[in-house]
Amino acid sequence: MNSNNKVVKLLSELIQFQSVTPDTSDCQKYIHNYLSKSNFETEYKKYDSVQNMISTYGKGAPCLAFIGHTDVVPSGDIEQWESDPFELTKKNDFLVGRGTSDMKGGIACFMQAVREFIEENDNFDGSIKLILTGDEEGDAVNGIRKLVDSNVFKENELDFCLVGEPSSSDKIGDVIRNGRRGSITGHLILHGIQGHVAYPEKAKNPIHISSKIISEFLDIKFDNGNKYFPPTSFQISNINSGTGVDNVIPANIKIAFNIRYSTETDHDEIKDTIINILDNSNAKYDITWKHSGEPYLTTDHEFIDICKDSIEEIADIKTLISTNGGTSDGRFMAKVCKQVVELGLTNRSIHKINECVKEDDLRTLVEIYKNILSKIFIK
Ligand SMILES: [Zn+2]
Repeated sequence: MNSNNKVVKLLSELIQFQSVTPDTSDCQKYIHNYLSKSNFETEYKKYDSVQNMISTYGKGAPCLAFIGHTDVVPSGDIEQWESDPFELTKKNDFLVGRGTSDMKGGIACFMQAVREFIEENDNFDGSIKLILTGDEEGDAVNGIRKLVDSNVFKENELDFCLVGEPSSSDKIGDVIRNGRRGSITGHLILHGIQGHVAYPEKAKNPIHISSKIISEFLDIKFDNGNKYFPPTSFQISNINSGTGVDNVIPANIKIAFNIRYSTETDHDEIKDTIINILDNSNAKYDITWKHSGEPYLTTDHEFIDICKDSIEEIADIKTLISTNGGTSDGRFMAKVCKQVVELGLTNRSIHKINECVKEDDLRTLVEIYKNILSKIFIK
């Protein structure tokens, strides 16, 4: 079997596990067995029903850790799939199946890359880790976040973290991420006094109160962003008010908003700014917050450059360094590792019906990952 077929075979094995989030299948066990043939040692960390695995080859520094998840999102309406989502199926130049891009494909590429790299270079200093969770697509509470919060990783243990999420846009390596924005959601209720629209002096219209407050929210300039992040943005996602009839001033209005924020501010400063406007308005209000992710940013250029150079040498393209997109487990790893970069397959079909990966892209990513391993471990 040539090495191209090997990564495809590996991916087809991983796709067969129906590891819909949280992953309770034997997918991690399969990876464990595969890696043990290359002398990796594996330990499991289970929190509630979520299983996480850490497989390690070698010892000490430098340490490169690959971060990923074996869980996948549900298939959705199975009738709409052209083939069984849990059986890798070739269609023209593509391989179709749930998790092909997000992110069993990335995991298969890294597994194949380390196997070949260790076969070709049996004696090098340092260590390679695969840190995989079964809980990224769901609540993401007992996955990478828990590993980090439970101090599973020692200080300075991890030199470089390679998050294998699908960072690429059209071609492998055209985009890598060195950070992500933070995200905080507010649920605001403004209270008025309900009454008849014909007797407004006896009521207090919360919708009217909200109009001034919303316009002040929209005028907030949280920051100007920086070299890596666009300015922090405020977006209203829901507004609800009214009793459903035309002659009643409602008692309250509910407003939900989300703020994606850069490293130029933080969630406390954002809350203070919003609360300040509310307090100055003299409106009666209640507000609850959900802080779903801190921003993170890798500014040190060593690992970013290793990734960029590895991509350029293999795929002959220039890489865009970006902090766009939603949140990822990179934000947790950034607490224990100074250099976190996300580099993986393309994200054009992730979470969709007929999720797929271009067959040739798998081999390209194996070569890029191998090149990264060489640059770190073979001086
Ligand atoms: Zn993912």
